[in-house]
Amino acid sequence: MPAGWFLCQSLKSKGFEDVYEIYRNINEPFNEVIKEIISYEPDYLLLSVYVFNAIYVKRLIAETRRLLPECVIIAGGPEADETFDAHHIVTGEGEEALYTLITEGGGKVTYAKPVEDLDSIPSPYTPERLEASRNRLIYYEASRGCPFKCSYCMAGLSQGVRYFGSDRVKKDLVNIVNGGAQIIKFTDRTFNADARRANEILSFILETFGDNPDVCFHFEVGADLFTESTLELLSRMPKGLIQLEAGIQSLNPLSLKAVNRSANTRKLIKNIQKILGYGNIHLHLDLIAGLPHETLDSFKEGFGAVYALKPHKLQLGFLKFLKYTPIREFAGAVYGSEPPYEVISTPTLSQAALAELKSVEKVFERLYNSGRFFYTLEYLSTTESSPYNLYLSLAEHLLPIKDNSDYGIQKALLSYKGGLPHIKETLRLDYLLCNPINKIPKILKREYSAEFKSFVKELKPDSLIGYEEFAFLPDKGEGRFIARFDYRNRDRVTGRYAFEVI
Ligand code: SF4
Repeated sequence: MPAGWFLCQSLKSKGFEDVYEIYRNINEPFNEVIKEIISYEPDYLLLSVYVFNAIYVKRLIAETRRLLPECVIIAGGPEADETFDAHHIVTGEGEEALYTLITEGGGKVTYAKPVEDLDSIPSPYTPERLEASRNRLIYYEASRGCPFKCSYCMAGLSQGVRYFGSDRVKKDLVNIVNGGAQIIKFTDRTFNADARRANEILSFILETFGDNPDVCFHFEVGADLFTESTLELLSRMPKGLIQLEAGIQSLNPLSLKAVNRSANTRKLIKNIQKILGYGNIHLHLDLIAGLPHETLDSFKEGFGAVYALKPHKLQLGFLKFLKYTPIREFAGAVYGSEPPYEVISTPTLSQAALAELKSVEKVFERLYNSGRFFYTLEYLSTTESSPYNLYLSLAEHLLPIKDNSDYGIQKALLSYKGGLPHIKETLRLDYLLCNPINKIPKILKREYSAEFKSFVKELKPDSLIGYEEFAFLPDKGEGRFIARFDYRNRDRVTGRYAFEVI
């Protein structure tokens, strides 16, 4: 989204007043989007093309050409190339190139140079846009490019990194927070590539927004690049103010070398452990399946080691062979010919192995990454020899079931392995930790003891405090426990409500 905002703001600042923005996603009905485009009767239609919307945009171009034959269509973005039936294609940064193209005309393809002085681009964070982002997530671009050259990544094709001035960034952040955005997600590819600058922005955030419980800042980072001073700063952040996303991609040194990733894995793991130990930052880690030299066994090993770190989220991605990236030279790899150009097989990972990883990824997303089955998964992990085997076994049991709601998953887990002895207790615990209501689904209810019934009878009614009886708790084992749930107190990092055994 920032790309479109920047382009529109640049055109407006150069005197084009009638610039209208349409932000739609590929899940929206095609006809509705076309109708909206037509309603403006545009002279020019500018389209941003990414790997996830390329096919949709091709359809939009064909339909716009048919319905608005006079309209000049310009496509840009990382996925735009001469295979698109637009009148013009702009590759690279469009702020200056687009203006020249519209005012002076041009050929089919314009190779736009990177804008040298990013601060010459007007800030797109206008009051109208900020109002539209109230209580929502907003993307923020504080730099362009990446200093690294991972062979599967488009950012790796950039000639280094360029930064917006830090004074401008600070001013924008104040405006954005005052505008009421809830999550400010930096699009910088490696936010801490320049440690001094990262510290300056993080210090500013801590000083300026440290006492604001309604906002949070999300950064993509290189976890091995953290300096002691950045870690110290992070350790002082109030709970929930910062979220970090760190790509590990693989723990196989041969794979990392083959994709030109020079991460110091030991330091990376150590830093991740430190950050998780602070308990104040939501940490999201990434692994990629299908890298050169990665076998099913080496991936399982890496998955097990990263899982053991207990990140709040662990995304299992699949290698994409994006246009122009050097990974396309990966001999013997087979990938889809259409976006997103995902890996089908590699010399060390068969199609069947990748299909198995896909099913593990699906169930992992529903269970672990939802954060709604935390204690149930802790319990289930004691029933299998490795995390990978657990999710493979869960995939076989859960994926044939179509109901993906929490209720559908609870129902399916109750019958997992013929019904494990404590599963109902852990599911009920997870349910109460994630739902601020006392209405427990029928399938998770238990018979209460006489003692618990009389205990509850004595309580003063309070809709924000709940009590429940358990015959098992993951960190205590079997017994008879009464737990108290405080629905006024939600952990900003885990998203779970507070509870204690009384
Ligand atoms: S994967 Fe990350 S570190 Fe590597 S080039 Fe891309 S953005 Fe940079």
